Amino acid sequence: MGSESPYFKKSEAFQHPTGDDQEEGKLYYDASTLGMTGPLRISYAREQAETHRYWHDTLNALGVETNAAHIGGSNVGVWTNMGTVDRKSQTRSYSHSAYYLPNAQRGNLVILTDALVQEIVFNKNEIGEWTAHGVRFSHGGADHVVNVAREIILAAGSIQSPQLLELSGIGNMSILKAAGIDVKVDNPNVGEHLQDHLRKSVQADFWSYVVLTISNSACSYLRS
Ligand SMILES: Cc1cc2nc3c(=O)[nH]c(=O)nc-3n(C[C@H](O)[C@H](O)[C@H](O)COP(=O)(O)OP(=O)(O)OC[C@H]3O[C@@H](n4cnc5c(N)ncnc54)[C@H](O)[C@@H]3O)c2cc1C
Repeated sequence: MGSESPYFKKSEAFQHPTGDDQEEGKLYYDASTLGMTGPLRISYAREQAETHRYWHDTLNALGVETNAAHIGGSNVGVWTNMGTVDRKSQTRSYSHSAYYLPNAQRGNLVILTDALVQEIVFNKNEIGEWTAHGVRFSHGGADHVVNVAREIILAAGSIQSPQLLELSGIGNMSILKAAGIDVKVDNPNVGEHLQDHLRKSVQADFWSYVVLTISNSACSYLRS
């Protein structure tokens, strides 16, 4: 598994399927690759569509093997997908329910909406390395800088996280110079390795009131 694996595990609380569900839906996993005590609930759907019963067998018959540890670093093969859903309540588990609500009453938590971060502010430390020490952002028509005592977590998504690094002087020197940005760290990898997540699907009407969708991820469902 990749170097992000410990962080995924830290965030997750995997909820095991029951024995019956497991056999019928072919819900296979390697528990050692999953987190058990984090705030984000992950689980298999409690009910699988009828067509799903044929998914593994059909693909197995075509020579595609079932991957019994699909969350463990390889998603090659046939598998039944998990979701970030609380298995008990059957509701979505996400940043709001997992992180915000349990901490909403804390006096040291402030959530500012309608704020646009423009730059991570860096200072050089005594040994000449750049260290992030603040964030410059606009809010209510004015610019502000907030300084931090410990760390900044940059989580602006796969496109805007590298963009913010570039705006802050970390990125490919030639791109930054062309944009008039002072270069702090020349790193040509910033923003360069985004890969599209390709998906193909095939749909066929196979009887009057049911449509079977088969895609190259383990997704099959009935739509009446
Ligand atoms: C169409 C679509 C379908 C998807 N379907 C699935 C799916 O079914 N299952 C799945 O697991 N994943 C899915 N994904 C991927 C999933 O949405 C992302 O992996 C996930 O949202 C990334 O979370 P994040 O917190 O890193 O970033 P994001 O959810 O992108 O959050 C980044 C936040 O930062 C904010 N931001 C950006 N720049 C700034 C700035 N300068 N100042 C202030 N705020 C800023 C943005 O407004 C945004 O709110 C899908 C993605 C897309 C686009």
